[in-house]
Amino acid sequence: MTVWNLGSINADFIYQVPHLPGPGETLSSTDRQVFLGGKGTNMSVAAAQAGAHVSHIGAVGPDGRWAVDRLMEYGVDTRHIAQVETETCQAMIFVDPDGENMIVLHPGANMKIPPEILEQALTRAETGDWLVMQNETILQPEAATLASKMGLKVAYAAAPFDAEKVQAVLDHLDLLFLNAVEAQQLEEATGTSPAKLPVENVIVTQGGDGATWFGPDGPVHVAALQVEPVDTTGAGDTFTGYVLAGLDRGMPMAQAMGLANTAAALMVMRHGTADVIPDLAEVQSFRA
Ligand code: ADP
Repeated sequence: MTVWNLGSINADFIYQVPHLPGPGETLSSTDRQVFLGGKGTNMSVAAAQAGAHVSHIGAVGPDGRWAVDRLMEYGVDTRHIAQVETETCQAMIFVDPDGENMIVLHPGANMKIPPEILEQALTRAETGDWLVMQNETILQPEAATLASKMGLKVAYAAAPFDAEKVQAVLDHLDLLFLNAVEAQQLEEATGTSPAKLPVENVIVTQGGDGATWFGPDGPVHVAALQVEPVDTTGAGDTFTGYVLAGLDRGMPMAQAMGLANTAAALMVMRHGTADVIPDLAEVQSFRA
């Protein structure tokens, strides 16, 4: 089976600065690194590292070939990543000596994914495949409609949160991922708690408390591993990718969530995102 991911592809430019800049200020950075990033990318890499066959649907600009090559190195099928004229999405991240940051996101090619690419990709999909989406691209309603019509299972990670965008795809979802803050925001927007949403499976991640699955048999809580967090960036995306890879392999939900909690626990113990997502062997051998 395949996990299809309509997802963002970002270049994360990380600048170390002596302090965060104020209005009108010009600062020299002391170091700069470029990383592969974006929620979509992280989820594709996580699901591939977990052993799934993953096909990424997205777009990069003329400057984005390296990002596609890196996805390929992780075993992700990149045939449905379009190269468009608009530049690849860039995240400009300033980090001060205390680790506090400021981020400016230029969405670029993530907002220019050609609809034909999505249609071409999904004609190759099989009944029972998963489609996952997040909120850093366009075409989510089109993808959800088409995929559910074709018998795919549809998952959505509602981040960055936008109540209207979640509600636009809700009727097509088999699985919705929310973190605790997003769950609260969605409840405020809809007046409905995660347990009562019209989606068969809702997973609410709760940081160091693990995650709760609201499924057909009522809520099931799966505890997180007890670890010392140093950087939680990418933990939620890794969790999502691992859950989908587990379900794709036919694992029961609670078991997939257990594996995902371990993968995410490893992520919170290290700096970085896509490039440091653990593979299945590391996750299976890890004991907190
Ligand atoms: P997000 O990062 O998307 O806001 P969460 O903070 O809920 O999402 O974290 C996602 C998952 O990462 C959790 O369900 C858990 O598995 C893992 N995780 C996050 N923080 C910790 C922590 N302090 N200790 C152990 N696991 C954690």
